[in-house]
Amino acid sequence: MSDATADDLAALQELQAADDEVRRLEHRRDGLPEQRVVEDLETRDARLVAAEDDVAARRDAALRDQRQVEGEIDALTRRRDEERARLFDGSLTQMREIQAAEAEVAATERRRSEHEDQLLEVMEAVEAAETEAAGLAADRAALAEQLTAARAARDAAAGELTDRIAAAVAARAPVLARLPEPLRARYEEAAARGQGTGVGVLRDEACTACRITFPRSDLNALLTGPPLATCPNCRRLLVIPD
Ligand SMILES: [Zn+2]
Repeated sequence: MSDATADDLAALQELQAADDEVRRLEHRRDGLPEQRVVEDLETRDARLVAAEDDVAARRDAALRDQRQVEGEIDALTRRRDEERARLFDGSLTQMREIQAAEAEVAATERRRSEHEDQLLEVMEAVEAAETEAAGLAADRAALAEQLTAARAARDAAAGELTDRIAAAVAARAPVLARLPEPLRARYEEAAARGQGTGVGVLRDEACTACRITFPRSDLNALLTGPPLATCPNCRRLLVIPD
């Protein structure tokens, strides 16, 4: 690499700085706080949906109970009325039959009254479930507004970063064009291998890419060698300043 010129070395470091900037912006876009706000709101909405499902199931069960109790009340009412009619249509002549019919009317009426108490209870359960459902629907409507605003803020922040990333990628191209081909390929290869970092600089007796401090023997070889070397530790390109 003894043929690397001062401009090659400068271009390599500028290219690394440009790539670092692209990565920094991509990292910011991937970890947007606005996205976390959206996710938190979506989690809350999912909980509300689950609560809505739960309350709807309870309301449906209470409605089924209500229909069943209403059906039983209808049957008891019919039975009581039939028995009453028998008392007054002259079909019963024996006192014993009349007393039995009267007892049946009273017993049916008592059961009917018990069922009406039960009906009130299930109707209250239906009403309570409907009130709860209305509250949940209102909560979800408020949350939907927050979500719309949060998504708009997230999209705006992501859009701005996407534009800045595109600009940083575009700014990288002329720097890359300044590098002669073999160096360009070596940088790209080292960067692909080195989590985006293709070149380090020897500074304070260490490689700035892998941060390993060199032993004296390596240091002497690097300092007396060409201005562009390979880091003996991380194998990235290594610029040796004057
Ligand atoms: Zn290194």
